[in-house]
Amino acid sequence: MSGNPDVIILGAGAAGLSAAVELSRAGLTAAIIEARDRIGGRIFTLRDSVCNAPVELGAEFIHGEPPEIWDLLHSNNLHTKEVDGDIWCVRDGELSTCAFFSEVDQLLEQMDDRAPDQSFLEFLERCCGDSRITQAAKDWARGYVTGFHAADPAKISVHSLVKGLRADEKIEGDRTFRIAPQGYEALLNVLRRELQTENVSLQLNTVATAIGWRRGNIELSVRNHSGAITMTAPRLLITLPLSILQATPEEPFAIRFVPDLPRQKQAALDKLAMGKVIRITLRFRERFWEHLRPPHSTESKSLANMSFLLSREEWFPTWWTTMPEKLPISTGWAPFRCAERLSGHSTDFVVDKSLRSLGCLLKVSTSELERLFAQAYWHDWESDPFSRGAYSYVKAGGDGAQQALASPVENTLFFAGEATDISGHNGTVHGAIASGYRAAKQILSTYD
Ligand SMILES: Cc1cc2nc3c(=O)[nH]c(=O)nc-3n(C[C@H](O)[C@H](O)[C@H](O)COP(=O)(O)OP(=O)(O)OC[C@H]3O[C@@H](n4cnc5c(N)ncnc54)[C@H](O)[C@@H]3O)c2cc1C
Repeated sequence: MSGNPDVIILGAGAAGLSAAVELSRAGLTAAIIEARDRIGGRIFTLRDSVCNAPVELGAEFIHGEPPEIWDLLHSNNLHTKEVDGDIWCVRDGELSTCAFFSEVDQLLEQMDDRAPDQSFLEFLERCCGDSRITQAAKDWARGYVTGFHAADPAKISVHSLVKGLRADEKIEGDRTFRIAPQGYEALLNVLRRELQTENVSLQLNTVATAIGWRRGNIELSVRNHSGAITMTAPRLLITLPLSILQATPEEPFAIRFVPDLPRQKQAALDKLAMGKVIRITLRFRERFWEHLRPPHSTESKSLANMSFLLSREEWFPTWWTTMPEKLPISTGWAPFRCAERLSGHSTDFVVDKSLRSLGCLLKVSTSELERLFAQAYWHDWESDPFSRGAYSYVKAGGDGAQQALASPVENTLFFAGEATDISGHNGTVHGAIASGYRAAKQILSTYD
């Protein structure tokens, strides 16, 4: 590709790559600018050589059967494995199997998007006429919303939660899959292969610092190994995480817009928030939970088929295994306040908290878990300057904010990325891909 591209794309995550595929197929030239030394953004697959298994530091699951992912998997002969196994809960210190999701669903079904919007916490405080819904059920539902959406329950919008549930129903969102055996990286490789390379350049290790714009003209300032450079194009597609767009000018790696983004964009940014998560994947010397049976319980089962372990523990309340693959690997999930407490700490600190948390839930001593522990994998998305958090959610009163963020400015600035999804699939890989396709269409329509 020589000369200025038709489009500069900021970010080589799922949204940027899928937009680049569509634009390059339509014959436009594109330059993708990526700050990291790799593509994928919040998809980041490593491989554990001992188990010969993928380890995800970011996205791991396909939620349901979204066509944006399944079409790519089918046409590239990639396979998936559906998550199955027993769900265990720790309630009042007691470990037992539980029908967690159907219990929580009963409460979530009471949310109403015809009433004025409110936060999930306000909804819980006011709900519910149904006397079968106990305070304990409300506490679990709060834990679920905090965990799944990585969100502050005092902020997240009930309207957006209802929209998400409806969107999930359409794609069987209660089923969960993994790309097996390769992990999510396989999807990135598909997108990379589908780029029409004669039309696309990919520049890694290149950090955007400022965006000068006027109708039909972009001057993008970037920094890379050769210093500061200005790139020019008639259109810019921005797929940066929400938190990067929300950063104030004095924060490190904030991007300056010259002139500022229009007021409607600023207002949209204020109505959205970035969720927080820290996850850690631990490999043990053996699948030690295989033979555990909850002490003093009526359960006749062992934990051999445990898929999820749910609790309200203060550091890592949620855990899952690799079921149906029976590997000695388990992942801990620390959302919202738990992530805030862990972020910025050393690996030793985070591993120690995770081992203590798992040991406390399974009633295995910390010294025994330390003996069984072999390796940890984690990434601090919160402190990572190119994500500054996990994924977005809508704040109460934020109806329409994603639409406002997604809309183009002067047919010159275009926006994609999971936070711009308007179909209830924000915060997901398929939402990010769909937003990339949508933005590519918007760009192509300016050539009609
Ligand atoms: C821990 C975790 C677990 C998750 N689990 C799941 C899951 O199981 N299933 C699921 O569907 N989704 C999951 N997600 C969400 C999913 O990963 C994201 O929604 C999706 O990957 C976002 O893609 P994107 O293209 O919108 O953004 P990103 O992937 O963040 O891409 C944006 C790109 O912009 C780059 N960038 C940032 N700043 C600059 C700059 N100044 N200059 C140049 N480039 C820059 C970034 O490096 C990044 O590569 C998870 C996310 C996290 C963090």
